[in-house]
Amino acid sequence: MLSGYLTVRQSCPVCAEPLHHQRADDGPAYLTILIVGHLMAPLLLFVFTHWRPEPLMLATAFTVGTVGLSLYLLPRLKGAMVGLQWAKRMHGFGGALPVE
Ligand SMILES: [Zn+2]
Repeated sequence: MLSGYLTVRQSCPVCAEPLHHQRADDGPAYLTILIVGHLMAPLLLFVFTHWRPEPLMLATAFTVGTVGLSLYLLPRLKGAMVGLQWAKRMHGFGGALPVE
């Protein structure tokens, strides 16, 4: 569904389902920040209060962990968001509305 890291293809290379209707916009980035923030902030407090590591060690480990988790989650959440829009027939995914 994605070409490269985050670009959504015009259509599915397997079944030719048009994907250009997607309007993920800032949603995947919002969800990534929401999830990573709610995981890493309590973990930072836990690690700090239980082990009191060296500040440079703590900052380095959490920088790598936060960036790595964000880069892992972002394309997956974008795929999930486009899939949700497809499943709910949003933004033209269902084709033209039937004329009554
Ligand atoms: Zn397909």
